[in-house]
Amino acid sequence: MPQLDKSALRHQILYQRKSLSTTEWQEKSSLICDRLKEKTLVREAKTILAYFSFRQEVDLAPLFNLNKHWGFPRCVGKSLEWHSWQPGEELQLGKYGIKEPLTTAPRITPATTDLILVPTVACDQQGYRLGYGGGFYDRLLGSLTSSRITTIGIVFDFAYLVELPTDPWDVKLNSICTETKFDVY
Ligand code: ADP
Ligand code: MG
Repeated sequence: MPQLDKSALRHQILYQRKSLSTTEWQEKSSLICDRLKEKTLVREAKTILAYFSFRQEVDLAPLFNLNKHWGFPRCVGKSLEWHSWQPGEELQLGKYGIKEPLTTAPRITPATTDLILVPTVACDQQGYRLGYGGGFYDRLLGSLTSSRITTIGIVFDFAYLVELPTDPWDVKLNSICTETKFDVY
């Protein structure tokens, strides 16, 4: 029963993640951001979709001062709506308590972007991702037909596993970035 496995794994990893001290969380996040900044595909990307850290997800905030067009999601029903956001602009809290751009911020069409930094609960060594169980990113990534867009799963080393339980709708990521690794799939 893969769903049960996914659910048990989510609980276990979210518990471990919550147990990181603020200092550990920031240090590990900062290592991941340093690694991302070195990558040509990050340096050359003009428009990047990212996320605001929630429940001690890897914090990408050190990247947001890079000179890019940044897009962030709003949860609307069962999908993600993407809006432009640049440092200093106002944010609000969405329905899950996640920071979101205002509805008045200009919309961004995912298909026109270069890079998507994908939040994860866990990733595996085939490029699969475990999320919170809403399937939001499976729907987003499944809707993108252009292979021009690179997707990078962002995960701490402790949640980068050998193999995750998967379902037919799970979409593989192109790369995974941790504190110590950058793997391409
Ligand atoms: P997560 O990816 O967040 O870990 P799951 O992979 O368990 O979560 O997916 C959660 C739900 O999302 C599933 O019940 C599935 O029915 C739904 N889902 C995933 N991808 C799609 C899709 N492309 N279209 C419609 N529903 C989807
Ligand atoms: Mg999934």
